[in-house]
Amino acid sequence: MRYCIFCGVKIPADAKFCQNCGKEQPETSGANAPEVTADETTDPATGVLASPKAKIMVGVGVFVVMIAVFTGTMILVNAK
Ligand SMILES: [Zn+2]
Repeated sequence: MRYCIFCGVKIPADAKFCQNCGKEQPETSGANAPEVTADETTDPATGVLASPKAKIMVGVGVFVVMIAVFTGTMILVNAK
């Protein structure tokens, strides 16, 4: 018996897929199991990136767009 690397439920040692979440399991050895980083976690409910880093990146993107719009407005005002 071992555990699903994604949701943690008990699964048969020879199971290729988790019976709970359906995710494919790595080879039984477990030595070369893929490392799941926090940056790649997604919210299962929405499918949207849920990591704090992703939210920061979205925030920075919005900020940059606002600066670009503001700068463009200033240029138009000064051109008149
Ligand atoms: Zn699972």
